[in-house]
Amino acid sequence: MHRIAAACLAVVTTASLALAQTPAAQQPEGGGQARPQRTPEERAAAQAEETRRMFAMERPIDAVDTVWIEEMTWLEVRDAMKAGKRTVIVPTGGVEQNGPYLATGKHNYVNRATCEAIARKLGSALCAPNVPFVPEGGIEPKTSHMIYPGTISLSEETFQALLTDIASSLKAHGFEHIILIGDSGGNQTGMKTVAANLTGKWGAGSKTTIHFIPEYYQYPEAYKWAAANLGWKEVPEGHHDDPTISTIMMTVDPNSVRIKQRVAKKKASINGIPLAPVEQAVAWGKKLVDYRAQVTVDAIKKALSNPTHE
Ligand SMILES: [Zn+2]
Repeated sequence: MHRIAAACLAVVTTASLALAQTPAAQQPEGGGQARPQRTPEERAAAQAEETRRMFAMERPIDAVDTVWIEEMTWLEVRDAMKAGKRTVIVPTGGVEQNGPYLATGKHNYVNRATCEAIARKLGSALCAPNVPFVPEGGIEPKTSHMIYPGTISLSEETFQALLTDIASSLKAHGFEHIILIGDSGGNQTGMKTVAANLTGKWGAGSKTTIHFIPEYYQYPEAYKWAAANLGWKEVPEGHHDDPTISTIMMTVDPNSVRIKQRVAKKKASINGIPLAPVEQAVAWGKKLVDYRAQVTVDAIKKALSNPTHE
């Protein structure tokens, strides 16, 4: 994040320098021989010209193969949109207490795998940066996940304000469809509310539509799918953890479920399903990612074909 902020500042500074050709401090006293200061209209015209020049710039190198906006250069985003990638998915995750083996960023790891799979299946979509902060319970007094250290919670108001500004930024750049998906329970109401509010605010004639896709968050369906297709017979251990979430996390980083440390203590399983060897667990995780991506892609296509969907 630090690097991104510094880079943004540099762009602003360069643009400002280009525009401020005659700073007031360099004007001679009395103004007799001074070049007349530019009018607001002239400054606006210069800025428009600079913007036109920037947009006309050809990408000097090949684009990298990623669907994540934050991994792309602005030229790669511009060109991807020109080439038809005008749907953008905003994934929301969370930082929360889980079972004894899982990193607090569980939902963020999951979104890393699933958003990419969804975007690639759609073919016409990019992924906005994952939103890691979501409502996880009361802060003062602490309730729900917030009772446990490591959890970071947003109020419903902050979460909705954050989503509103993210979606509005994406609309300003001309994305046609903004898709909200959330991997955790506390995210669902906020996303639904923001999609409804912005749909109302933008109006029926808006070129940009926003859609909350609840079908993404259907863990009971995923459990059934795993039992039927991966042959799992789970015996619940009572942790905030299960093999569906664990194997999906392992496709991104096996350390996020502490696989090495668990193997050392003969605890490399959850609910009776083995997580070692890693290759087997990752292969299961990839199948689950594909299943969840397909369910979500089907729901997105349905939403986009129905103009009244929020
Ligand atoms: Zn959660």
